[in-house]
Amino acid sequence: MTRVLLATRNAKKLEELRRILDAQGISSIEVLGLSDVEEFEEAPETGATFEANALAKARDAAAATGLPSVADDSGIAVDALNGMPGVLSARWAGRHGDDRANLELVLAQTSDTPDERMGAAFVCAAALVVPGGEESVVRGEWRGSLARKPRGTNGFGYDPIFVPEGEVRTSAELDPAEKDEVSHRGRALRALLPHLREL
Ligand code: IMP
Repeated sequence: MTRVLLATRNAKKLEELRRILDAQGISSIEVLGLSDVEEFEEAPETGATFEANALAKARDAAAATGLPSVADDSGIAVDALNGMPGVLSARWAGRHGDDRANLELVLAQTSDTPDERMGAAFVCAAALVVPGGEESVVRGEWRGSLARKPRGTNGFGYDPIFVPEGEVRTSAELDPAEKDEVSHRGRALRALLPHLREL
């Protein structure tokens, strides 16, 4: 059994990676989270790109634990805001993790934007760092557009204002399993599978 650390305390992210590995018949990998390993200092996310942040988190985790480590970084990129909030998605309204304030600010900023420029994408970079060995970074994108008003209660963050391409529902109106299949995070984690298989 190969142990791999997913550098997160988010139980949903851990379950998602385990589900993806199961679906591919990869039974030789045991996925641990940050609460399964000895605590180490987690540096703030200061990178200019999703890839830089994911790689920095995976490097820190691999150096601290000696385990092959996966980390992700994600956010929403709004066309009319030149790709912002981007890496600042979690703290766009000024405080880390105030989901409601963040999406209200994006809606206010785009209130005069014509429909054809309401395009947006959820983006996720996922990195795998093997101690003393390979480093890989991949990206998953999920295109859509912004709704004018929040709808739906599933998910988190900007889900209530993101309408995926080909959908009329927001991503907060999809069920979680439906979202996993097409989401930026699902795509990025699946893109890491060839690298995980080599462990
Ligand atoms: P993190 O990568 O978990 O730190 O997430 C960064 C931020 O991006 C979150 O706080 C959300 O605001 C936003 N975000 C990332 N993925 C999603 C998603 O699937 N739905 C809604 N918001 C998301």
